Amino acid sequence: METMFFAGHKVLRFPVLDSTNIQAKHLAREGEAHGTVILADEQTCGRGRLNRKWLSRPGYGAWFTMIIRPEMGRVRAEQTAGLVFVAALAMAQALNQQTDGAVRIKWPNDLVIHGRKICGAMCEMSATTEGLEWAVLGIGVNLRGRDFPADLPWAGSVESETATILSAEETLHRFLICFDELYALWLADGLSPILRAISPLSATLGRQVRVIQPDGKIFTGRALRMQDDGALVVESAGIEQVLRAGDVSVRGMMDYI
Ligand code: ADP
Repeated sequence: METMFFAGHKVLRFPVLDSTNIQAKHLAREGEAHGTVILADEQTCGRGRLNRKWLSRPGYGAWFTMIIRPEMGRVRAEQTAGLVFVAALAMAQALNQQTDGAVRIKWPNDLVIHGRKICGAMCEMSATTEGLEWAVLGIGVNLRGRDFPADLPWAGSVESETATILSAEETLHRFLICFDELYALWLADGLSPILRAISPLSATLGRQVRVIQPDGKIFTGRALRMQDDGALVVESAGIEQVLRAGDVSVRGMMDYI
């Protein structure tokens, strides 16, 4: 393990980890400070939301987790879900600086280029009755490669979609600068300004979508808007349905977005 500093953040870089979130949770429980980043060249057991697998091959992307530890009492537990929107927007801004604005945000927290998923984010946390104690914010971004396995037909990378080659270090550095500014805005003013900045970058709003429910049932509708808490409002058969990020997957009518 090697210790580095990027944009004022302590970065612990490991050649290989089972999962950067697992390592970050371990350190968070031991009191590691806000802003520390766990970066792995490879994850053998990377995870996405709902315990889904996240492919994290060495040399193909940036796989990292940041420890978030606000002042005790500053963030309510139920506000923590907003952090993935902050993270998705920060990575979209960081990558858009390098790709002529090619990156879009698929609700709630995937980044896509040309309809291909290039980045996912997820958050786990520990809270008490006083509020959020710590959260770990995991992000995987595909930077290189065109040869994704057959079970990931909608995966893409910054290289495959824009022919731009970015390093994990530079991407993390730019992300941290964008994140720090957006995190301060979120703490001061809540989720609304973050969602307002996401709207013009949204790959979901205004589109016909398929909503996949936990029981596998699917309905279709039009994505109208996001509520102040980040929930997606979809109109289906004349009725407005409010979708929460933890509950459903949203896909395009024909393809991934
Ligand atoms: P969801 O797409 O439902 O929001 P997640 O964001 O948690 O789920 O991502 C997990 C899913 O992403 C996996 O089930 C898999 O289909 C896909 N996936 C796994 N690894 C990658 C990767 N490196 N690039 C793009 N998609 C991936």
